Amino acid sequence: MKQQDNCIFCKIVRGDAPAIKVYEDGPTLVFMDINPASEGHTLVISKEHFENILVIDEPAITAVTLTTQRIARAIYRALTPAGMRIAQFNGTPAGQTVFHYHMHLIPVQAGEQPRSHGRGPGDREQIKTLAKRIRAALE
Ligand code: 5GP
Ligand code: ZN
Repeated sequence: MKQQDNCIFCKIVRGDAPAIKVYEDGPTLVFMDINPASEGHTLVISKEHFENILVIDEPAITAVTLTTQRIARAIYRALTPAGMRIAQFNGTPAGQTVFHYHMHLIPVQAGEQPRSHGRGPGDREQIKTLAKRIRAALE
């Protein structure tokens, strides 16, 4: 499995950096975004390091997509958002800041203005509680 020493998401996959995890299977890992754009902002990543959509292989992108749907359903059950933004950025000009393929799942409550990135670190205890609720809603 391709890994990159200095990649923060590879470090999370290896257990060398902390994360509030929600779910994992063979090829994918799901954890809470540290700077949430909304309550419940979750990231789905490929465990293998691929920089972006241009280079990720077919098994990995398929696995990420299926996990994204699974987690989206769990978030809908757990947090009953009015909508959900699902986004993926390629390259700095597009807003990519971590160069390891991932999907953003950003629940949007009624009346909320959807955003793609948070403005700073969220409250860790609150994020942990949200993760627990999403985990409990997994099927
Ligand atoms: P990008 O801009 O690359 O699409 O998104 C990267 C996301 O990863 C951002 O929303 C950012 O808040 C999140 N992020 C960056 N570093 C960490 C980290 O160490 N832990 C977690 N949980 N999220 C991170
Ligand atoms: Zn990586």
